[in-house]
Amino acid sequence: MSRVDHRHRHHERIAEVREGTSAEKVGYPIRIRAAEVLRTTMVGAGLVRVTLGGSGLEGFEAHSPDEHVKLLFPEPDGTLRLPEQDGQMLRWPRPSPTSREYTVRRYDAASGELDIDVALHDGGLGADWARAVEPGEVVHVAGPPGGLIVPHSYDRYLLAGDITALPAIARWLEELPRTAAGWAFVEVPDSSCEIELSAPEDVEVHWLHSGGRPPGTGDQLERTVRGVTVPEGERVYVWIAGEAGQLKPLRRWVRDELRLAKDDHDITGYWKRGVADFDDEHEEHHDH
Ligand SMILES: Cc1cc2nc3c(=O)[nH]c(=O)nc-3n(C[C@H](O)[C@H](O)[C@H](O)COP(=O)(O)OP(=O)(O)OC[C@H]3O[C@@H](n4cnc5c(N)ncnc54)[C@H](O)[C@@H]3O)c2cc1C
Repeated sequence: MSRVDHRHRHHERIAEVREGTSAEKVGYPIRIRAAEVLRTTMVGAGLVRVTLGGSGLEGFEAHSPDEHVKLLFPEPDGTLRLPEQDGQMLRWPRPSPTSREYTVRRYDAASGELDIDVALHDGGLGADWARAVEPGEVVHVAGPPGGLIVPHSYDRYLLAGDITALPAIARWLEELPRTAAGWAFVEVPDSSCEIELSAPEDVEVHWLHSGGRPPGTGDQLERTVRGVTVPEGERVYVWIAGEAGQLKPLRRWVRDELRLAKDDHDITGYWKRGVADFDDEHEEHHDH
């Protein structure tokens, strides 16, 4: 099948899901690209925005607020191992190259710019890279492999997470119709990490502060989110991401109390305390 046909097919599917009643993950053709770092800027005190550009990003596709790319980094011995382009897919070398996943915060087709917002923390390869990277450096970007397409027909949206989920939540709030209603809960260390958000008027935004607590600990996010009451008879879509352990009680709440169908929620561990390059897809959700 030609590239044009593939492109057409996933665009059609995205439009169908968007017009439908339940969310679905739709795959896109996946590419590996060399991008140039154009600049870095702070977004609040907790996120470094790395803006990428250059001809390698031509044809980049962005369709969903939580879609993500892998940034590839050199191995400890300095070699760079990249996946090979194989038609519409990538063939990955084994063992997997060193990489980290980040949300596509913004892609602007007109300027060809891609923003990635990286949460600063100690002892992280990706965080250290974002802190130090200089304009002109090249980084390889794989993906996005697809995205979660959520119809705009739900009565309410409940979005929640920590600072690693903030780039996706910010994009969610920008992309929801201005008539959407719901709640967004974001836990950040303190008010210096709060950022400007473009939320629809009827989406209440709540910032929570973890203060001196180590990242990924405490039950404040859980307790606050569980305080939400979904009005009787209304359909809600729930999207939550953050530290894997912190999300567990919320998975149970969504399953046992909200009783949401699989297609009406997406809860993803974005990182796990003590684990480098955590991959939620290989975890088993016994409580899910
Ligand atoms: C789909 C998806 C989208 C994501 N989007 C974003 C995004 O837009 N921005 C973003 O910043 N992150 C995002 N993440 C999370 C990010 O991939 C992880 O936090 C990743 O581990 C960071 O890599 P690192 O090299 O900095 O740390 P690693 O080398 O992976 O980890 C080193 C140590 O730091 C800890 N650690 C990892 N992340 C954090 C953190 N944020 N705070 C405190 N300790 C941490 C680990 O537990 C480990 O002990 C996303 C993850 C997924 C799966």
